[in-house]
Amino acid sequence: QAKQSGKNTVRTFRQDMSDHLQIKVKLENDLHDALNEDRIELHYQPRFNAKGRVMAVEALARMRGRDGNLVPPVQFIPLAEETGLIVPLGEQVLRKACEWLAALNAQLEEPIAVSVNVSGIQLMSGRLSDTIRSILKETRIAAHLLELELTETVLMQHEESIHEDLNRLHTLGVELSIDDFGTGYSSLSLLQKMPVQTIKLDRSFVADLPDNQDNVIISRTVLAMANAMGLGVVAEGVETDAQRDFLIDEGILQLQGFGLARPMPAEDAAKFILSQQINHPIAHKIVPETL
Ligand code: C2E
Ligand code: MG
Ligand code: MG
Ligand code: MG
Repeated sequence: QAKQSGKNTVRTFRQDMSDHLQIKVKLENDLHDALNEDRIELHYQPRFNAKGRVMAVEALARMRGRDGNLVPPVQFIPLAEETGLIVPLGEQVLRKACEWLAALNAQLEEPIAVSVNVSGIQLMSGRLSDTIRSILKETRIAAHLLELELTETVLMQHEESIHEDLNRLHTLGVELSIDDFGTGYSSLSLLQKMPVQTIKLDRSFVADLPDNQDNVIISRTVLAMANAMGLGVVAEGVETDAQRDFLIDEGILQLQGFGLARPMPAEDAAKFILSQQINHPIAHKIVPETL
């Protein structure tokens, strides 16, 4: 009896493994097809300054299934990295984001910037700076309006090629930021050496502000460190007014999160930003000179 059930357990485990593999193979095929059929879509989440103005947007990839459903990035980015498909995918994302931004900025008084998440695999290819140079040229986007979000893990890699490409991107004038800051193990000396301008404070440290004393201390410390190093700080995952007010009081000048705006499909995001600039034009342009 016991032997029988043991056998069953083994068979179930194998069945699970093969199911898992099948799902993976299917997803890999889906991803491949989605790339060829232009079914990678970008949603854009606004990033605000302390006055509530949109200064930039983050491009976030989604895969449109043949059935019309949207597949979130957690479900395909890791696989894309594993299979190397992240290189063509990343290139599509960069080109789409820059094309979208060019069309939007043509209608805006004050241009905004776009940030794009970049995987270590893309940097390891050693061609990222060349790819970006041609995309910027094609779309006529000024380099400083493109920001690349890298993780600490990427920066910590000792690959010479990564550092060379990052320096080339920096020389091009592209902005570099560290995403999910505080969740990795980057050292202060590394931060100092890297051509990075901005830190994105991970949302786990923004959660429950201002009640969570640990997070109060962490956010203050990160801000003090960033100030000392001349780096900008973006708070991620701002969901409540209390979080927003606390962060602004502390001097964190850029905010992103569901409480301010969710990621939106391309057209909605463009409308959102256009209507904000129309309804709240830049102060000096509306204040009459006599005031
Ligand atoms: P991320 O770069 O840290 O992006 C922020 C994620 O947090 C997004 O999830 C966004 O929807 C979510 N988020 C924003 N505000 C809030 C909030 O207030 N509360 C909560 N709970 N979540 C918030 P999303 O779009 O599912 O993306 C997940 C991750 O997938 C991204 O994390 C990024 O690491 C990766 N990713 C997305 N697009 C790309 C891409 O084009 N290339 C690469 N390499 N990675 C990407
Ligand atoms: Mg990001
Ligand atoms: Mg992030
Ligand atoms: Mg994050």
